[in-house]
Amino acid sequence: MKILVPVKRVIDYNVKPRVKPDGTGVDLSNVKMSMNPFDEIAVEEAIRLKEKGAATEIVAVSIGPAKAQETLRTALAMGADRAILIQTDDEVEPLAVAKLLKAVADEEQPGLVILGKQAIDDDSNQTGQMLAALMGRPQGTFASKVDVSGDSVSVTREVDGGLETVSLKTPAIITTDLRLNEPRYASLPNIMKAKSKPLTQKTPADYGVDTTPRLKTLKVAEPPKRQAGSKIADVDELITKLKNLGVVA
Ligand code: AMP
Repeated sequence: MKILVPVKRVIDYNVKPRVKPDGTGVDLSNVKMSMNPFDEIAVEEAIRLKEKGAATEIVAVSIGPAKAQETLRTALAMGADRAILIQTDDEVEPLAVAKLLKAVADEEQPGLVILGKQAIDDDSNQTGQMLAALMGRPQGTFASKVDVSGDSVSVTREVDGGLETVSLKTPAIITTDLRLNEPRYASLPNIMKAKSKPLTQKTPADYGVDTTPRLKTLKVAEPPKRQAGSKIADVDELITKLKNLGVVA
C-alpha cells in the first residue's frame, strides 16, 4: 500500500506572527518557516506504518513556492521515499489544495492519504474533509490512533468528551491530531541521503486545476493585548477585588 502525505510549509510554530501594518496579512519576510506540525505527525505515522509492514511507499507532496522543496526534503529525511512539489507563488486555498491532491491521488492511487488536521497558518481544518468529499472516500479526522489491517483501517478520533473509533475501507483519508505520535528528528546521515531522493516538480496547470482564490481577506488584526496581572496579599483582598469588578456579588 502506498501512502500519500501532503505537507505544508508554514510559519514556524515558535515564531510570534507579526501582522503587516496595512492589515492585509501576516508579515512573512525574514521569518523562519517549517513543516506544519500536524504534517510532521502525518509523515511519522506513515513511516511507522511502513516500518510495521503495512505500507510499501511514502510519497510526500507540497503545494507552494520553490522553497517548499525544503519542507519536502525534511519529509524525505524523516523517511518518505519520494516527493512531489506543485509549485505556485499564489496563495492556495483548501479547496484548490484538495483538488490538486485529488489529481495526485488519481495518478498515484494511494491506499491512504494522511494529512494534518489543520495548517497552523490559516487554521482552516478543511483540506482533508474536502479531499474525502471530492474523492468519494471515507475519512477519519482528528486521529489519535491508527491501525491498518488488510483493506480496512481503524481510526480512533478525538471528539468532544471522549474518543470515537471508526473503521474505514481503504482507500481512505486520515487527518492527524496532536496525540497520534511524537515525530522523529531526521538524523544527519538521513538528511544527506534525502538530497538524492527523487523530487518531481509540477505546476497546478499540469493537473488542470484552477487555483484562483474564492475568498477575499478583508482584514487581519492582532489579538487585543492582554492586561497585566496584579499580585494580591490574601483571599479577603481577592474577594474585595472580584466584588469591585462585579465578577462576584
Ligand atoms: P487546512 O485545511 O489548510 O487547515 O490544512 C489541513 C492539511 O491539509 C494540512 O495539515 C496539510 O496536510 C494539508 N495541506 C493544506 N495546504 C497544503 C499545501 N499547500 N501543501 C500541502 N499540503 C497542504
